[in-house]
Amino acid sequence: MTPILPGATLGVMGGGQLGRMFVHAAQRMGYFTAVLDPDEGSPAGRVSHHHVRSDYVDEIGLAELSGYSDAITTEFENVPAAALARLADHRPVAPAASAVAIAQDRAQEKAHFTRCGVPCAPYAVITGEDALAGIGDELFPGILKTARLGYDGKGQARVATRADLRPAWESLRRADCVLEKMLPLAFECSVVVARGADGVMVHLPVQRNLHRNGILAVTEVHEQCVPPVPGLRAIEAAKAIAEGLDYVGVLCIEFFGLADGSLVVNEMAPRPHNSGHWSIEGADVSQFELQVRTLARLPLVQPRQHSPAVMLNLLGDLWFREGATGAQTPDWASVLCLPGTHLHLYGKAEARPGRKMGHLTLTGPTPPSVRETALDAAQRLG
Ligand code: ADP
Ligand code: MG
Repeated sequence: MTPILPGATLGVMGGGQLGRMFVHAAQRMGYFTAVLDPDEGSPAGRVSHHHVRSDYVDEIGLAELSGYSDAITTEFENVPAAALARLADHRPVAPAASAVAIAQDRAQEKAHFTRCGVPCAPYAVITGEDALAGIGDELFPGILKTARLGYDGKGQARVATRADLRPAWESLRRADCVLEKMLPLAFECSVVVARGADGVMVHLPVQRNLHRNGILAVTEVHEQCVPPVPGLRAIEAAKAIAEGLDYVGVLCIEFFGLADGSLVVNEMAPRPHNSGHWSIEGADVSQFELQVRTLARLPLVQPRQHSPAVMLNLLGDLWFREGATGAQTPDWASVLCLPGTHLHLYGKAEARPGRKMGHLTLTGPTPPSVRETALDAAQRLG
């Protein structure tokens, strides 16, 4: 398979922070870039050589993107799969529309995990009123999740008992849903895998994730961040899931570690993931370079983590700290004076609570030292 060499143009559907970091990685390697995103001020659009400002399904916009691009990827999992299929008529597209379509739908995603022999939480699919009565008692207490378009804990409702199910489903506007049993989580972790068109697969080490209010808050990556047995199982499961999709590109799989030592898969994202951002400074090949390499059919080499790392998400809430009457920029100097801090801001014009504005990666010589710096940094930012 012929590689698409630097000097060519790589296109990306979506102009968010993931697209911005993809663009940065591609440009560093000598590629030109093109971004399709309707927003004039989108984080990736602002740093790309070309920015097509159109809707994801606009024929003219899609034609313009494929006109610029030698190959096209996505940074946004809710890009309509049909748009990727359309682009694939003219240009190489990775990941494929068929894989993205599965990741976009929790019911299809879970069916895929089961096909690959990877257990997930007990669940039931709800596609209409009639399904409500048939739900087994063993799924309560549970979490009701819309099958499509959920992210950062949005599109979810907790259901303590059967009596809560109908109101919860109504609150989600009777959308197609899955009801999952609420599991006792010992920890959460994720694995980023990259698979080339030739079937070669590499992965980043297991990442331990801490969520607050359904949004990723902290990722920690070092040898002891998760127990060894579930850690190895997560890597094997992630590879099986990518293989089973005949996936080309970067795929991130989220897992739950349970108190009894078992591991279940939660969900997957057909793109780089927030929990893999640490790899920009903590590994010799980042998840975004992996995305460039898979798209351009360049060789994949197993990345090596050279430094223990902690990533802190910087949410818009920081701009509205105690005492702040309106948007107030956090004191970046107070954290940049700490050793091994790497600040990423995505260039979003307006801070809003819960909005991902940037992240801070900390690297250091040992896991305890990097943890200590991370705690210090978190306190300084308030
Ligand atoms: P999103 O697409 O919003 O990331 P997730 O399905 O990953 O949705 O859920 C967000 C978070 O909610 C998870 O990271 C986890 O902390 C919690 N959660 C989700 N499902 C379960 C479950 N079945 N049992 C316990 N906690 C869960
Ligand atoms: Mg999630």
